[in-house]
Amino acid sequence: MGASRVGVFGGTFDPVHVGHLVAAVNARHALALDRVLMVVANAPWQKADRTVSPAPDRLAMVAAAVEGIPGLEACSLEIERGGPSYTADTLQALREQEPGSELFLMVGADLADELHTWERIDAVRKEATLVVVNRPGWTPPSTLVGWRMQAVEIPALSISSTDLRARAADGRPLDFLIPAPVVRVIRDRGLYA
Ligand code: ATP
Ligand code: MG
Repeated sequence: MGASRVGVFGGTFDPVHVGHLVAAVNARHALALDRVLMVVANAPWQKADRTVSPAPDRLAMVAAAVEGIPGLEACSLEIERGGPSYTADTLQALREQEPGSELFLMVGADLADELHTWERIDAVRKEATLVVVNRPGWTPPSTLVGWRMQAVEIPALSISSTDLRARAADGRPLDFLIPAPVVRVIRDRGLYA
């Protein structure tokens, strides 16, 4: 048996939505990944300018989203580590936990364009193959020269957590943009009300 192929899909997931899940299942399929870890950020340093929902609530939403979906897992490593969530630390921790596995770092095209601003990005590049999940027609920016990289095309889904939080606050429906079990978690915990 070859090395286990593990996708690492980080996010704030505030809330997790269908765009995230379409990305995860398509990357898993395209790259024959054994597992995709949906890594819930503890304190996302890119989002220091707004209030982020408590980590246990975001983890509960991701756990509800992946329930029963083969190969997708909710990962609480960054929450357990505490402090700001840097992908370089997460990849190193996974490398130590699972020395035999091959790591694939998944990002949407919006993040791929700003990857060069990330903390200890050289360490990230050494640890993982980058998987950019993008709408058809995306071309890699020059900042990604030197990366091991794969592109996975998915239909453009203009769904964002930012828009969903606004919808929830206004009482507009979240249905079909967010999986039903996640909508239940939002209602039960009174999130975004
Ligand atoms: P926010 O609006 O708060 O920024 P978001 O919807 O962008 O939230 P994040 O948790 O910031 O969600 O994103 C996690 C990952 O999912 C990132 O790599 C991002 O590029 C990717 N992603 C977000 N939305 C989509 C989408 N609609 N289709 C594909 N990938 C997405
Ligand atoms: Mg975003």
